[in-house]
Amino acid sequence: MSDEVKKLQERNAELRSEKRASDREVKNLRTEVKNLTKEVGRLNVELEKVRHPPLIVGHIVDQLSDGRLVVKSSTGPQFVVSAADFVEDVAVGSRVSLNQQSLTIVGVLPSGRDAVVRRSQIASKPDVTYEDIGGLDDVLRQVRETVEYPLTRKDLFEELGVTPPKGVLLQGPPGTGKTMIAKAVANATHATFIRLVASELVQKFIGEGSRRVHEVFDLARDQAPSIIFLDELDALGAKRTDDGTSSNREVERTLMQLLAELDGFENRGDVRIIAATNRADILDPALLRPGRFDRVIEVPLPTPEGVRQIFGIHTAGMKLDDDVDLKVLVDRVGPVSGADVQSIVTEAGMHAVRHERRAICQEDFLDALRRYEKGELATHVPTGAELYA
Ligand code: ATP
Repeated sequence: MSDEVKKLQERNAELRSEKRASDREVKNLRTEVKNLTKEVGRLNVELEKVRHPPLIVGHIVDQLSDGRLVVKSSTGPQFVVSAADFVEDVAVGSRVSLNQQSLTIVGVLPSGRDAVVRRSQIASKPDVTYEDIGGLDDVLRQVRETVEYPLTRKDLFEELGVTPPKGVLLQGPPGTGKTMIAKAVANATHATFIRLVASELVQKFIGEGSRRVHEVFDLARDQAPSIIFLDELDALGAKRTDDGTSSNREVERTLMQLLAELDGFENRGDVRIIAATNRADILDPALLRPGRFDRVIEVPLPTPEGVRQIFGIHTAGMKLDDDVDLKVLVDRVGPVSGADVQSIVTEAGMHAVRHERRAICQEDFLDALRRYEKGELATHVPTGAELYA
């Protein structure tokens, strides 16, 4: 009897161990299934991308008697094509998108200046003034000489026969006030401010980037005097690498159009261009040739005195306690951009609100500084340039 019990116990132990082994296996298999599901998800996303290749944009110029349509593509050549069954309201003059391979019309696009161009004209008179910009006196002097005076003292330039540069390029780390400078110049000159983000130009449709560049320059001429602010120029004008992909060719076409526009307009006209980049070192040298962006102005991180001024500007409208000592903060914070200062000030304000104070005190600023140092404050949204820097 005891033998039998012993055997059964042994068998029991064996079975338990087998169960543990199979449990482990089930667990491993579950993890594998999870990983494979993730992989399937990723591949599906890839597949979607392949299924929806970039589309060509064109204008319908004629309709043949058999119903087919003649389309002039925005890249130049004309094609005789048909429209897919699901596409409605195709007429001569419509702006349409075409599948790159079959050249079938797959959609009708809104006509006229497209949304990106319309949106680019953010304000005819931005409210930033030179007084709102701290620590950049020398930069402001250079920008005013090259962009503001050719607009406001046109007569002087003409009389002296001086040709101002067509465009200036502001180069410097993110959040140092490049956009503010362009807005302040537009404000001071009563010029229309047109902001164009280069990375937004070259996104979806083949041939659209160059058309948009052309339309923006058209818009600038219509609304002159105007200042075109071309942000993230490196997204468009990074040195050309020939990997032969269609997206690369698209960037190149857009860049060529920009160069053509720059070459085609009057130096002494009422349209001035300010471009900005975080990386002038990676720009295509064609952009920096005389008559284009031949003036590169450095917009550096502010000096300690600049940081103090920027703290002063951003706290000007706030109720500060007597114990606030900006000098202590400037010494503590080290090298920062204007955008960082702005987020520290905002965070200090929020800290004071959370503690229901009557005025913002030094401790609020010190707390904001601690959070900034730990990287907890969202200082600015990284630009395309920084992402691939
Ligand atoms: P990016 O290269 O990331 O586009 P940017 O150089 O154009 O940045 P801005 O958009 O001009 O930077 O600055 C962002 C914010 O930071 C401004 O709205 C302003 O509040 C603050 N700021 C930056 N520089 C200064 C400055 N010199 N004086 C005052 N405020 C500043």
